[in-house]
Amino acid sequence: MKTDKPRPILLKDYRPPNFLIDTVTLDVSLHPTRTRVRCRLKLRPNPLVAKPGALTLDGELLELESVKLDGRQLAASEYKVSDKALVIAGVPRGEFALDITTYCNPDANKALTGLYLSKGIYCTQCEAQGFRRITYFLDRPDVLATYTVRIEADRNDAPVLLSNGNPVERGTLDGGKRHYALWRDPHPKPCYLFALVGGNLGSIASDFTTASGKKIDLRIYVEPGKEDRCAWAMDSLKRSMRWDEERFGREYDLDVFNIVAVADFNMGAMENKGLNVFNDALVLASPQTATDGTFVGIERVIAHEYFHNWTGNRITCRDWFQLCLKEGLTVFRDQEFCADQRSATVQRIREVRGLKASQFPEDAGPLAHPVRPNRYIEINNFYTSTVYSKGAELVRMLQTLLGREGFRKGMDLYFERHDGQAVTVEDFVACFADASSKDLTQFMTWYSQAGTPELICQLKHDARAKTADLTITQVLPPTPGQAKKRPLHIPFKLGLLGGDGQELELTLASGERLADGLVELRKRTEKFRFRDIASKPVASLLREFSAPVNLSIDRTDAELQFLMANDSDLFNRWQAAQDYATRVLLQAIAARRRKERAQQPKGFIEALAITLANDSLDPGYRAQFLVLPSESDLARIIGRDVDPLAIHKARNALHKAIGSRLHTAFAEIYQRMETRGPYSPAPEQTGRRALRNVSLGYLTSRARPEDVARAAVHFSQSPNLTDETAALSILSTFNLPERAAALASFYERWKGDHLVIDSWFAYQATSQLASSLATVKRLTRHPLFSIKNPNKVSALIGAFAWANPVNFNRPDGKGYAFVADRVLEIDAFNPQIAARLLSAFRSWKFLEPERRQAAKKTLQRIARTKPLSHDVFEIVSKTLE
Ligand SMILES: [Zn+2]
Repeated sequence: MKTDKPRPILLKDYRPPNFLIDTVTLDVSLHPTRTRVRCRLKLRPNPLVAKPGALTLDGELLELESVKLDGRQLAASEYKVSDKALVIAGVPRGEFALDITTYCNPDANKALTGLYLSKGIYCTQCEAQGFRRITYFLDRPDVLATYTVRIEADRNDAPVLLSNGNPVERGTLDGGKRHYALWRDPHPKPCYLFALVGGNLGSIASDFTTASGKKIDLRIYVEPGKEDRCAWAMDSLKRSMRWDEERFGREYDLDVFNIVAVADFNMGAMENKGLNVFNDALVLASPQTATDGTFVGIERVIAHEYFHNWTGNRITCRDWFQLCLKEGLTVFRDQEFCADQRSATVQRIREVRGLKASQFPEDAGPLAHPVRPNRYIEINNFYTSTVYSKGAELVRMLQTLLGREGFRKGMDLYFERHDGQAVTVEDFVACFADASSKDLTQFMTWYSQAGTPELICQLKHDARAKTADLTITQVLPPTPGQAKKRPLHIPFKLGLLGGDGQELELTLASGERLADGLVELRKRTEKFRFRDIASKPVASLLREFSAPVNLSIDRTDAELQFLMANDSDLFNRWQAAQDYATRVLLQAIAARRRKERAQQPKGFIEALAITLANDSLDPGYRAQFLVLPSESDLARIIGRDVDPLAIHKARNALHKAIGSRLHTAFAEIYQRMETRGPYSPAPEQTGRRALRNVSLGYLTSRARPEDVARAAVHFSQSPNLTDETAALSILSTFNLPERAAALASFYERWKGDHLVIDSWFAYQATSQLASSLATVKRLTRHPLFSIKNPNKVSALIGAFAWANPVNFNRPDGKGYAFVADRVLEIDAFNPQIAARLLSAFRSWKFLEPERRQAAKKTLQRIARTKPLSHDVFEIVSKTLE
């Protein structure tokens, strides 16, 4: 726990390291409370630095036993140790070796960074700055070294011993009581990619032959007894390996690739070289224990971590400000992989939904920051959706601007030029500029400017001249620390539709034909004149969501209906439905707050019905079409004086109106979309289940006795967890005995499974019933809940704070107070998780006055508390600013 006033770290202060480390030899003797680490470093002064001065190694929570310099034991007067560093003043001018022996306590480590124990398994998490909790080191990503690691442990406690790279040797000690394993990683890497695992683990094995014919041994390690839940993760891994060869020409570069799943993990997963460590929720799956959504999530995260081998590991970040260099790029790569594995449109809709639900509010509030931030207090606070999701959108825009081939050339150049280096965003973008001869200077502004741009569009048709004029103006809202903004370079995809729904040819006044419908915006206002447009067209703008912006254009209801039925860009067809639904909902919310009756949304529901009945569209796509904009999305669009309860009621009322008006159609779809035969996570089946379960939601929206019975039957007869939890989520909204019965039966069935039971916590935490806060409080004392486990915190407290806007934002402020208390409780042992939970307050300034006041008081109370971690201090002070 840190009490000194934290000082921000600035991008402009970057300096190269004074020393370089060439090789690291670790000898780790595992012990639950007293693990000994012997570390031998080969160092030399950095030739780029004129006067390297004293050597300062980072270190935290380490007990130092001895330091040797070139074999000579240093006296205590020859170095200084603090709670942050080991400083050695008199180091040689040339190469030298340091031998450092330290001890650490994995059992006491509940921050889950560094070396810790998860259910008896030793594991590590070093990104961003966890390695300094294992040994004294230059803990920064631009220090790359090769590692040799010897791990020693009690053979019964830890029969499996793993580290990065290739296995070299193993053997027994103490007459077989203890044993060791030796690993060597030939690829230089920064220490954040170091990993070590020791424990009693089951595993499944397979292999993969690379394009050049090299056989790689693949293995996934899990809690013994769960081996039968790893097949999907293994299958996803092999598909990822093949895809990266085919799409980007990237082959795997070690003899083995290991994945380990652990129960206590702060993040989703970690791409350590050759030894990915996963939150077990993103590895373990069977039809009974994982939903379709989890299967898709596993496929995606397995691919993501694997793809890091080239984008992140072989080429890494110069400093932590460049985090988007590896994350934005790798998210983009995993999105492209998923688009190739499944419906590209459904995948794109999911991404955009996610971006709007999480990144857009971040960009609009007090926590807004550029994709490449220029200052931080705690780097762990910057693993944000801006860095990840908006970062991926920037890479996608590069691909849109250069075309797929041009983009691939830029990537090839990036790998060729920077393999083995720690680089910057400038280095990355320069590869695309050089490979394509395109000027990307203005594009760089995307990396330094925060906030979501708004594009105000106007379309004017001149019947006599047969021209259509499209005017697009960029509005760049101010964000904290950035009042004035420069215009951005934006790829903008569009189409014009004729009255019969036909796609019109796009010919500019200059005579240039836009074959792919792409224009580039560079100035604050751009005008495009299209010729040979006989009658007034309907514009389909920002197709495929070609840039992460808000779009505004005046459209009539009839135009939205027209686009919902006719747009050849299926993404925009879906977007038209969302826009129409948003319009209907905003009117209803306003009417509700004026205590008036809302208009009947007849036109919208009729337009939905056409898509619902269109069997030429794949069921998964139709399911997305039927999901209304989320409450948080609506709150963001309203933007001020937000009343979460009014939003919730209006959305529910529309859901009910659609359900009753299209009842027959939903009943028919529900019948027809039933899947038979064995479960498969393939897109055909998951699409059918999604459409069927969305239909069930509408069918039961009026909560009549027959609806409740229908949901109860769906629940009790469900052959897989997808259907089971779909029904449970519906039943958990009813204040009826069937709700309690379903929750009790789910509990009885799954209380022995620490992953599945998380959805039992989550459905209660997100319940709209007035009793939900009391329920959540009670569940924090449940024997299956643990505040030390990040997944449990997320399933119960996180779900309440993030996904229950009505009860989190209770006007009496009790929802805020409860979450604040948990933030402070967690901050004492896991600041990273505490800060993440606290960011649920990020939109408090947009609330109506009563709630705003209550949220402010709560935030001020947190800010006054002492001590606070740097993580929580940074989030609370920015949120209040
Ligand atoms: Zn990543």
